[in-house]
Amino acid sequence: MASTLQKLLTPMCGGPPEPPRNKVTVVGVGQVGMACAVSILLRELADELALVDVMEDKLKDYSVTANSRIVVVTAGVRQQEGESRLNLVQRNVNIFKHIVPQIVRYSPECIIIVVSNPVDVLTYVTWRLSGLPKHRVIGSGTNLDSARFRFLMASQLGVHPSSFNGWILGEHGDTSVPVWSGTNMAGVSLQALNPDIGTDGDEENWKETHKMVVDSAYEVIKLKGYTNWAIGLSVADLTETILRNLNRIHPVSTMVQGMYGIHEDVYLSLPCVLNGGGVASVVNVTLTDDEVAQLQASGATLWDIQKDLQDI
Ligand code: NAD
Repeated sequence: MASTLQKLLTPMCGGPPEPPRNKVTVVGVGQVGMACAVSILLRELADELALVDVMEDKLKDYSVTANSRIVVVTAGVRQQEGESRLNLVQRNVNIFKHIVPQIVRYSPECIIIVVSNPVDVLTYVTWRLSGLPKHRVIGSGTNLDSARFRFLMASQLGVHPSSFNGWILGEHGDTSVPVWSGTNMAGVSLQALNPDIGTDGDEENWKETHKMVVDSAYEVIKLKGYTNWAIGLSVADLTETILRNLNRIHPVSTMVQGMYGIHEDVYLSLPCVLNGGGVASVVNVTLTDDEVAQLQASGATLWDIQKDLQDI
């Protein structure tokens, strides 16, 4: 007797089902992983979403990730109250040694977006462990920090965040670099109006805004134990740019060796043109000497940690 399916549909082609074209995998289904997954789902970006975790009652078979275009890695241990992101590092490196080879095995053409902290170091570790070209290994970096910066700056100026241009580059974390020389509204440079902006000598104390950005994660962790929704939305933004091939510019963590006088293999955030292939190019931002020095200090801080990492 014909099944319900056979009665319902008349087959027109006998071939196998079409493979997914915009499949996204999220590795690590904790607070951040779920926020990324929900944000990506609600924006209808992926035609298939796979979730993987090490917990027994969650998915743990990497075959479900096969043929992903993007793999978002949020697995790992999270910051405890008062713990710096860099303290997490070797614990998370050991976890990544299990995860990254499995990702590449099932999705050799994917773009990996690393979210786990310390994100810049772990993006470097992922690049090393994966063997993928550098333009296909990205860290969520300061995309979130920059969004928070724009929101806080715009609030003080009484305009919508999308009408304020400002970038935070470098490390996602304590040594991040606010590019005061580039802050502008409708093309009007804030530094031209207030040459002391962002410095200790600034009577208006705009520097405090950057401090609020750096402290915001610590503040949220103090209040609810973890951060998740803002980074989830930020990752959905990156996912949209890649899957829709938008050539949109985001400050994401990329390999900066050879740029701004940085000689070591470190990942730091710079404004990157992102598209379906990953990082298409990096914008050569005009920075002041002081901003370059801060970027170099960010790089030196990270290299100091990376050089001691075991087995990568
Ligand atoms: P969480 O503890 O809620 O979730 C982590 C998940 O990873 C858990 O479900 C755990 O079972 C899983 N996991 C652990 N080892 C694994 C493995 N080997 N394979 C697969 N899954 C594994 O933590 P969270 O709050 O979701 O945070 C996750 C990470 O994201 C942390 O490193 C945190 O610091 C980072 N984070 C980054 C940003 C950012 O802006 N880059 C923002 C917030 C959090």
